[in-house]
Amino acid sequence: KVLNPIERPQVTQDLANNVVLTTLNDLYDWARLSSLWPLLYGTSCCFIEFAALIGSRFDFDRFGLIPRSSPRQADLIITAGTVTMKMAPALVRLYEQMPEPKYVIAMGACTITGGMFSTDSYTVVRGVDKVIPVDVYLPGCPPKPEAIIDAIIKLRKKIAQEDARERSLYEQSHRYFTVQHE
Ligand code: SF4
Repeated sequence: KVLNPIERPQVTQDLANNVVLTTLNDLYDWARLSSLWPLLYGTSCCFIEFAALIGSRFDFDRFGLIPRSSPRQADLIITAGTVTMKMAPALVRLYEQMPEPKYVIAMGACTITGGMFSTDSYTVVRGVDKVIPVDVYLPGCPPKPEAIIDAIIKLRKKIAQEDARERSLYEQSHRYFTVQHE
């Protein structure tokens, strides 16, 4: 149909209200940040707060987060609790089994630095970022469920700003972490 010039401004306004222009990369990022599936991974008391988040009071499903029991179905791991030297190889293996792109939130003082075990324990990893790359650090002992939601919102902002191809290169460069006694 050939439009009457007088009708055109109206048509243009209609299009402006109904058409969204974006890039494929932005669309991909939007889909990823809106459906993060966290792996259930808890080694000690911090996980109690994470478990509270799953309940109806905090309702973290509204962020598109669906907890998974298999690393092959997860793209987010929230390391909730102490990571021991014995557990570290299993954690690395779980991380390796997650499909890319994948993200890590380090939850709690024990995970981030070794916490109360950071000075004289030879059994605890003093910082989970020594074995897997961390995207968001969530301090506290333990962090409250509201703080976990805040960390997830920070991660979503990070995903929205990043380039998916650069992310893939970043993950490939962090593949082979080793655990060493200090
Ligand atoms: Fe437990 Fe505190 Fe360590 Fe979390 S940071 S695992 S609550 S001791």
